Amino acid sequence: MGIAENIYNLRKEIPPHVRLVAVSKTMPAEAIMEAYQAGQKAFGENRVQEILAKKPLLPPDIEWHHIGHLQTNKIKSLIPHTHLIQGVDSDKLLAEISRESSRSGIASHVLLQVKIAREETKFGLNPDDLHHLVHQVLLGTYPGVVLRGLMGMASFTSDDEIVRQEFEWLSRLFNGIRNQFGNSFPHFTELSMGMSGDYRLAIAAGSTLVRIGSLIFGERRISH
Ligand SMILES: *Cc1c(COP(=O)(O)O)cnc(C)c1O
Repeated sequence: MGIAENIYNLRKEIPPHVRLVAVSKTMPAEAIMEAYQAGQKAFGENRVQEILAKKPLLPPDIEWHHIGHLQTNKIKSLIPHTHLIQGVDSDKLLAEISRESSRSGIASHVLLQVKIAREETKFGLNPDDLHHLVHQVLLGTYPGVVLRGLMGMASFTSDDEIVRQEFEWLSRLFNGIRNQFGNSFPHFTELSMGMSGDYRLAIAAGSTLVRIGSLIFGERRISH
């Protein structure tokens, strides 16, 4: 099936309150253009260099999301070009994004990445560090960022029950923060979870944003 058809099919299935971010890492600009022509505006990339290379070749109203781990030395070049940084997983990274954004006179929108998978390899904050960071954001420690919500990646397993539990756990954490700080946190509205293999479970657990790559563009030949 073609890229446009894949997007139409996903849109039919995804409820209107859930945003689709098409993960285009490793894919050429032509493939992104095909998705764009099918009405897709939000794209996710995990390498700053790729965003910088593809952006000038494509329509200016595309929203570029940075997904996954971000290196500190790439922040400065990324922030003028990104709509949402998904996956801030340390206070150091948040501090650096805030500092560079303030310097550039912009506010960067970010999601904090929480470690929900049992696998050791996945990045993310534990709940204590998360709550600490949320408090610091509320105290005004990071004036250059707008905290938009949370992001998480479930275990890579065919056991749906494990994945469902991980998503539900993150969803409770997200709602707990919203209930506790809702009034002082009007922009804290996004819960990014769900990929090609598990987006249905993620949506059932309350995701507002799914990040889907291979189901739209096909399998990636280069893995990153
Ligand atoms: C690659 C990637 C995705 C998309 O993965 P698919 O399985 O191809 O849908 C989603 N989120 C992150 C953080 C990724 O790195």
